[in-house]
Amino acid sequence: MKLYNSLTSKKEKFETIKEGELSLYVCGPTVYNYIHIGNARPVVFFDVVKRYFSYLGYQVKYVSNITDIDDKIILEAEKLKINENDLTKVFIEAYFEDVARLGSLEPTLSPRATEYVPEMIFYIADLIAKGYAYEGEQGVYFRVLKVADYGKLSNQQIDELISGARIAENKDKENPLDFTLWKKTTLGLNYDSPWGKGRPGWHTECACMNDVIFNDLIDIHGGGSDLKFPHHENEISQAKALYNHSLARFWLHVGRLDMDQEKMSKSLGNIILVRDLLKETPYQAFRMLILAHHYRQPINYSASLMEQFNNEWERVKRALNQALLELTINSYKKINYDEILIDDFKKALNDDFNTANGLTVVFEAIKNLNKAEQLAEKAQYYYTATLLLSIFGISLDQQKLTKEQIKDYKAWQTLRKEKRYQEADEIRIRLIEAGIL
Ligand SMILES: [Zn+2]
Repeated sequence: MKLYNSLTSKKEKFETIKEGELSLYVCGPTVYNYIHIGNARPVVFFDVVKRYFSYLGYQVKYVSNITDIDDKIILEAEKLKINENDLTKVFIEAYFEDVARLGSLEPTLSPRATEYVPEMIFYIADLIAKGYAYEGEQGVYFRVLKVADYGKLSNQQIDELISGARIAENKDKENPLDFTLWKKTTLGLNYDSPWGKGRPGWHTECACMNDVIFNDLIDIHGGGSDLKFPHHENEISQAKALYNHSLARFWLHVGRLDMDQEKMSKSLGNIILVRDLLKETPYQAFRMLILAHHYRQPINYSASLMEQFNNEWERVKRALNQALLELTINSYKKINYDEILIDDFKKALNDDFNTANGLTVVFEAIKNLNKAEQLAEKAQYYYTATLLLSIFGISLDQQKLTKEQIKDYKAWQTLRKEKRYQEADEIRIRLIEAGIL
């Protein structure tokens, strides 16, 4: 397998550190609102990464954190005049509902930042002891210039970064690039520490949880491409300071999802929430739309693009449902696969997770299914397509037909043969509604 490593800006051969095991950490949401369809892209993509490695026989440890302590949370809670814990509780629940709606599996572990504060204090103290961090009046800061290669992940030169950071210069820091590990504050949720009351900074939350949970260099660290700088750059610099490694061997970044060629943002009012989209749109169609694009490429979302994938999914669903119906009615139980198509699919995914090519293979299986005449052939393409779709986290809503539906279908066929079209049509409508015809 080859994967594009953002850390080296190259496609590299990928092998897990421990044979048969994959360690994967993906930066999760800051929980103060509902997630939108742009936030959903990494949730879908890394779920496919997990599913694919599981299919290949790997034991996957997939960790995705919840940032439940942050300035944005404090501000939103103040605005709503509620307690921060009450706010985050609502949006953590909403987040997992949306993950399920998207057809994504829950990660192996979803650590909340607030559960790891004592560990974060130790982590920061360790950085201070090793000379990589210092205490100022308003907080504890990381000495960025002390680590080599800062800026490598985001392809930025240290000089450019420094002149960029000067604009927001803070007299409390030795260098404008230094970032906050601990913020001294009594505002909102705060904790006792050797540096007074306060709370950890976002970059240290992820770096520390990674350390506590995996306790070593991991295989893949992922997230949206907007997290490369400063978040991931800062996570790496902390791991370098303490362990002289870059936290993960491979850094994977998922491209943006834009709305009608504009960045989705609250101020532009062009945000679509996951829960709103999926009221009308099948999650399968939305996953297809996402996976039809290579994960590093941007997606230019539009209503017409969504419509196109709605139609694609309808077409796929109808072919699968009809095949299922025929296999069921004829009690055909033999399961077999088209190994060539499965191989093509694996080749696509092994090439830097080219899900777009993977989806083409699924469509090929559907095309063959529609042309197939023998039951054995139908079974082969039916099971191949459903297997490949399951790796994409896409399944038929209904895997089995009810006795009533089978009876309906048989009755419909008989009525048609007898040319009793009006009665046949009544049943036909029921079958269409059930997505069978
Ligand atoms: Zn993170």
